[in-house]
Amino acid sequence: MMAVLDRPHELILSESQIEEKVRELGSEITNDYFDKTPIIVGILKGSVTFLADLIRSIDLRLSIDFIAVSSYGSEMKSSEVVKILHDMGTSIQGRDVLLVEDIVDTGLTLAYVVENLSIKHPKSLKICALLDKKEARKPGIELKIDYVGFEVPNKFLVGYGLDYDEYYRNLPFVAAISE
Ligand code: 5GP
Repeated sequence: MMAVLDRPHELILSESQIEEKVRELGSEITNDYFDKTPIIVGILKGSVTFLADLIRSIDLRLSIDFIAVSSYGSEMKSSEVVKILHDMGTSIQGRDVLLVEDIVDTGLTLAYVVENLSIKHPKSLKICALLDKKEARKPGIELKIDYVGFEVPNKFLVGYGLDYDEYYRNLPFVAAISE
């Protein structure tokens, strides 16, 4: 059965493009962390699909955890205020943390999460984002994204974890939709 996107859309990334990129990122991370036991932290809910595929491409002893932050709700616009709705169950003190995010847009979410995690004294903190909407970055937000899958246009995207009103997360591809 094929998940359906039942509205006008433009295909941005196909399932096979994503698969190939996830494998590449996985082997890069495997090499970079070869002597480490990282904790992979996903930002709910959008990163779930990416994280699930990514960790199966990482050949290391690792653990996973999740944090939830306030999101767009049913809107297509980024909210300015970020809140932690659910925190991790594991201590990250002295751990090598790899934050996994579906997409970086204004950068506000990640900037907030990075600040929040840094004060918990991880040994290292790196970021892996599947998609980067570089042109949407809010001025003044400096974010170093250590692993980026694809740079994508400044459009509203759904699929592969990304939702519109909580739907379409299960699409195996990424597409742009309009209101
Ligand atoms: P930022 O804080 O960088 O503006 O936004 C990051 C979060 O906004 C992402 O984790 C994602 O949940 C959401 N987001 C940003 N752009 C899009 C998009 O094009 N489509 C969807 N569905 N969510 C997005």
